[in-house]
Amino acid sequence: MLLPLTIILVILLTSSNYIGAWLQDRRQVAMLWMTASALLEAASFAVRILWSSLPGLILSTVGVMEAIGFIWMACRTTRGRRVPPWMVLAPGAAGLALYLALGFGDHPDLRVVANNLLAALLFATATAELLRGGGDRLVSRWWVAGILGTESMVCLGHALVVARLSGGDPATDAAHRGLLFIALSSLVLMMLLSAGMVALVKEQTERHHRRMAGLDALTGLGNRRRLNECLEHAVPQAGRSGRPLAVVMIDVDCFKAYNDRYGHLAGDGCLRAIAGALQGGLVRRSDLVMRYGGEEFVVLLPDTSAAEAVRIAERLRLAVRGLGLPHAGREDGVVTISLGVAVLEPGAGPMDGAALLGAVDLALYEAKRRGRDQSVSYPHMQPEPVAITAP
Ligand code: GH3
Ligand code: MG
Ligand code: MG
Repeated sequence: MLLPLTIILVILLTSSNYIGAWLQDRRQVAMLWMTASALLEAASFAVRILWSSLPGLILSTVGVMEAIGFIWMACRTTRGRRVPPWMVLAPGAAGLALYLALGFGDHPDLRVVANNLLAALLFATATAELLRGGGDRLVSRWWVAGILGTESMVCLGHALVVARLSGGDPATDAAHRGLLFIALSSLVLMMLLSAGMVALVKEQTERHHRRMAGLDALTGLGNRRRLNECLEHAVPQAGRSGRPLAVVMIDVDCFKAYNDRYGHLAGDGCLRAIAGALQGGLVRRSDLVMRYGGEEFVVLLPDTSAAEAVRIAERLRLAVRGLGLPHAGREDGVVTISLGVAVLEPGAGPMDGAALLGAVDLALYEAKRRGRDQSVSYPHMQPEPVAITAP
């Protein structure tokens, strides 16, 4: 009696872990499935102990299968998949069908074998569901998959042992052999599963927060923090590969006047449209545009020469012009941008992201000084500053 009570208590404790994790991040529906699974499992155990007649046996079996099924649903939601209604009831229905097919428990050993085989199948399905989301490379995903896979193997092993003992000696009540082992291993796996599942959703939450921290809320582009991270990676990469790294800094012309005339909401819309045009003007996946701050953007162009970077800068300038956003305070009556270009040439000096941003800022300043709506390349890296205006 002590062991079943301990098991029930441990299961209830794991459910409190799940609830705690869900309260910290309510988008994690997996924690609700795991809570439901733990509560159902504890209830099924209690029914099994307190109500040993046939209805109690059937009820507890169906409950345990549903509880394992809920773990499967939890795994499914960790990769953002929906749970169709049929899937929710399928494990319990399968458990009930097995009972009906096997003559309401006339063959206790056969019943144990069948139940364990079904449980092994459900755990294996949950494992497969989890592994299918492996593209996100979360370490804890493999951990939980390992636990669930082991759980599946334990159930399979139990089924095989009971089947073998039962076949060899009909008098043996093989159903109860190894019960202690199964109970203890389930207990350990239950605790490991709880820790693993909570770690998995925490890892997901942390990754989500990290991604959000690098995003600009207005435009959806990367923000300055993301730019710093990218530079930290791209600058040494350029040094290692011996390839140039180009940077373009962009500033919207006379944007204060735009806000003053059209209002800040229209200004926000204008920044979003410009962000879209800049993003759309980049072809390679490795080229990244980020919002540097205010009405300034930065584009990182790995493996790009100075001449190519100026060509791309011009393409971006014309793309923004092409939006035709009205700006009564500008000569041509449309919103325009100025761009500075600088290139980090490996071997030309020390590799430094801050120096690169300083250089590109100077180039942008020069573009403003020369009358805006143009691209200027950083003079110290290009013998002659290049200024190109629209044809
Ligand atoms: P210049 O051509 O020299 O760049 O002139 P400017 O008016 O664009 O430059 P200035 O730095 O004087 O003004 C930038 C303006 O950008 C001021 C600020 O209100 C506006 N701004 C910065 N961030 C946002 C934003 O998120 N939304 C809106 N609507 N305006 C912004
Ligand atoms: Mg500015
Ligand atoms: Mg400006």
